[in-house]
Amino acid sequence: MGEMLSKSLETIEKYKNISPHYEELLEILEEILILREEYRRKLKENVFLVDETHIDKKMSGGLPLIDFTRNNLDLSQPRQYFFKLLEIAKKRSPDETEKILKDLDEGSLDYDNMVRDSFVRESEQQTPEEEERIFDLLGLFVEESLRPALEMVAEKYHDAIEKSEWTEGYCPVCSKEPKIAELREEEGFRYLYCNQCGFEWNYLRIKCPFCGNEDQQELAYFTIEGEEKYRVDVCNNCKRYIKTVDFRKTTEKANLDVEDIATLHLDILASEEGYE
Ligand SMILES: [Zn+2]
Ligand SMILES: [Zn+2]
Repeated sequence: MGEMLSKSLETIEKYKNISPHYEELLEILEEILILREEYRRKLKENVFLVDETHIDKKMSGGLPLIDFTRNNLDLSQPRQYFFKLLEIAKKRSPDETEKILKDLDEGSLDYDNMVRDSFVRESEQQTPEEEERIFDLLGLFVEESLRPALEMVAEKYHDAIEKSEWTEGYCPVCSKEPKIAELREEEGFRYLYCNQCGFEWNYLRIKCPFCGNEDQQELAYFTIEGEEKYRVDVCNNCKRYIKTVDFRKTTEKANLDVEDIATLHLDILASEEGYE
């Protein structure tokens, strides 16, 4: 077992005790992380090829390394992983999973389309009638299915991106928007985290990642009593929010996949307050 994996599983165990309410979701994450490691090792070659000639220009122009709206991506390896992930769902909800497998088989659900749709910004999606779900297992599996291959890209280009002039609030690797951020070091630098590829990038502290608003009057945050480690940063210009974990006082490395699940109550709260 990789060192990273055993450390993550240890963190999950700890959080299961602190937040028994999230035990089932954390168990799902546990199973995912074990499969992720297995698939990471199995990956034959780079699924996503990056054109290395224009990285600096792309970065300073706000263009992420991978463009998921292109149609020529070979998703066969992520697809295999996706079907393996569905077995995690099958153990818990056999009937719903059977239905999903049937829809995939008959073509009313299509993996490649689900991947592409997941990269369309919510604001641009045309299905407002669709019910909003805080925790969407199928969506999570679609996202996860790309993760091992995307992590490879994120690791490979980490230094190049750090040296570049990336100043956007969305991910420089895959274009997804962050859901959670971390405050680190004594200075309290803020790092936004991409759940899709695991990349973290430095971003101004007093600025909304979603609309770029820097007006302090319109930026606020709320916390919950007894959970001072967490806060929800909100923007009253665009009505969006991002969860923030404060790791300034510890030398521990945050595991933001775990933190994201352990703070789902903050998503519910933010949504009740009218933030998206
Ligand atoms: Zn990303
Ligand atoms: Zn905003």
